[in-house]
Amino acid sequence: MEELLRRSEKLTTVGQLAAGVAHEIRNPLTTLRGFLQMQQRTKMINQMHTDIMLSELDRINLIVSEFLILAKPQAVQYETKDVRFTLGDVISLLDSEAHLHNIEFKAHFSSAPILVHCEENQLKQVFINVLKNAMEAMPNGGTITLCLDGENEREAVIQVIDEGEGISKERLDKLGEPFYTNKEKGTGLGLMVTQRIIEGHKGNMSIDSEVGKGTVVTITLPRVVEVSRSEDSTAGRV
Ligand code: ADP
Ligand code: MG
Repeated sequence: MEELLRRSEKLTTVGQLAAGVAHEIRNPLTTLRGFLQMQQRTKMINQMHTDIMLSELDRINLIVSEFLILAKPQAVQYETKDVRFTLGDVISLLDSEAHLHNIEFKAHFSSAPILVHCEENQLKQVFINVLKNAMEAMPNGGTITLCLDGENEREAVIQVIDEGEGISKERLDKLGEPFYTNKEKGTGLGLMVTQRIIEGHKGNMSIDSEVGKGTVVTITLPRVVEVSRSEDSTAGRV
């Protein structure tokens, strides 16, 4: 069962998205206001209340930051990078958190360089989003397998395979819609950001999943073909 996330079908203008963001942050704002009002009237705020207030503030912050990535046309600087190292960096970054949750990363990387033309921080953001989703789908731990295949000369194929809860067909159709989340602390914006960045890199993402078994996210990115031409790239231009 394969479902391509086609952002074009679910295309959301920044304006519509902003309306969604406004709606999404209204709830935590209402909660915050309620507690502050209670404090004003009764001075009864306790540790539990402040914990809730902090987590509601964190939620607003997260929604706004993810929205900004989507809304802001960032000045991007593309460079040629070996995607094995980009992904390796992200694995190191998340390794200790994974360990805490009894999750192990297993990497199967091509032994030869796989060069892609990319804005490396954006690409890291993509891998962080996908790996975090995989980790969050595995509350009881397990293995996340990362395959980076260099067999195809034109495309880098990156697969993130988890042993998590999986996604039903019904939910799969909803992925890529903003604010669709099944997590208490989710924003439902991560996959949109991911999809947007991959499109910016002329790549593709597809998700395969089976409930109770796990999910496979496949990302393809165009590879930099090393041409053995000595001429300057501007040569031959009319
Ligand atoms: P969030 O992580 O904030 O919920 P995302 O856009 O990253 O938002 O993901 C949207 C939804 O897609 C998640 O809430 C989850 O239901 C589903 N999802 C994404 N990746 C996976 C995965 N690897 N396994 C199971 N469900 C997933
Ligand atoms: Mg996510």
